[in-house]
Amino acid sequence: MIPQAPKGTDDILPPASEKWRTLLRGFEDLARRYGYALTMTPLFEATELFSRGVGEETEVVEKQMYTFADKSDRSLTLRPEATASVVRAYLGAGLQGVFKGYYAGPMFRYEQPQSGRRRQFFQVGVEYLAEPSPDADVEVIEVGYRLLADAGVTGVGVRLNTLGDPADRAAYRDELRSFLRGRAGDLSPDARRRLEGNPLRVLDSKADAEVVADAPAPIDSIGGEAAAHFSGVRAGLDRAGIPYEIAPRLVRGLDYYNRTVFEYVSADYTAAQDALGGGGRYDPLAEMLGGPPVAAVGLAMGVDRIVLAMPDPEPAGPDVFVVLADPQRRAEALGMVGRLREAGLWAEMDLGERSLKAQFKVAGRRSARLVAVVGDEWDEGEVTVRRMADGEESRVAIEEVPAWASR
Ligand code: AMP
Repeated sequence: MIPQAPKGTDDILPPASEKWRTLLRGFEDLARRYGYALTMTPLFEATELFSRGVGEETEVVEKQMYTFADKSDRSLTLRPEATASVVRAYLGAGLQGVFKGYYAGPMFRYEQPQSGRRRQFFQVGVEYLAEPSPDADVEVIEVGYRLLADAGVTGVGVRLNTLGDPADRAAYRDELRSFLRGRAGDLSPDARRRLEGNPLRVLDSKADAEVVADAPAPIDSIGGEAAAHFSGVRAGLDRAGIPYEIAPRLVRGLDYYNRTVFEYVSADYTAAQDALGGGGRYDPLAEMLGGPPVAAVGLAMGVDRIVLAMPDPEPAGPDVFVVLADPQRRAEALGMVGRLREAGLWAEMDLGERSLKAQFKVAGRRSARLVAVVGDEWDEGEVTVRRMADGEESRVAIEEVPAWASR
């Protein structure tokens, strides 16, 4: 029996992989235009990074981590997210001052797999460190918004909220806890268990949506500075023309957030797992990891889900497919393919020894734009080029083919 890919993982093959390529290239270009530089961190980390950074009592750390002991009995974990790693890297390298990094890669969470919820999934993200201005929040939100717009995802909106500062959050946690205790009879068993340790997690619980709808919201108990920051973020989003709605009970699952939190959803793509990405400000994280305070804001976009919401791309094929009318001229044909590629064109040739008709068939299947026939004309320094859209044929001088095909 052929071994199968592990549950909750995917092989990304053509033609579906074409959407991935479009999205990943688009993301790199976009991140660079906004001034973010490639940042790569290990796929596995000391388990402690996540228990301290993401938070002991979060769903991710409690239930979803791929944790194992290596041969020297160190506890390691496949990264469930990349933000803690980026901050660890920044602190570890002794960096100071503003840092803008982008990353792209797989993350790992032991979840109940379904469409758009995988055990190995792919995130692209940016982290903007050491910049407390609300305009940094706006910039980060804009990057995610543009990514989705450029990918052709329609109906995109931002859900926005503020958690206030850590002291606000502590006060809010107490308030929420007493509210939930008052409704304990209506809560799911999970929520009853959580409400003592980490009541904010109850806000994420679908089973308790009805109770949660009446719960107090963080925004009602935030201090003056956090409120001013939030106004700044809202003003910036208005200026940038990014549509958003306030989602008063959006808290997001990880412990390191303060102030701004946000998620992207698409009205036209309503799967059960509808957040296409999200992020927020996480000023407390550097200190949670034992470093100095470092203001920070970032986002992570779920590529598996975005790809599901993307329109199908226009079918693309080679600029030129070279076919061999005379098997004796194989070397010349290969030389022509090489020159076309050097000229920056997408050129292909069937390397099997197939008939002319069969080669044309392959060219058609590959959606080639032009077919260049290497045959007897070669002796006169020419090839026959056929435009596949309408079948029109022209004789073209060999050295002119790259320029001809670039038109
Ligand atoms: P998070 O790191 O939890 O803030 O998630 C950020 C984004 O990553 C989410 O909005 C999803 O788009 C995506 N994501 C998170 N978990 C998964 C998963 N298990 N499978 C696929 N995408 C995910």
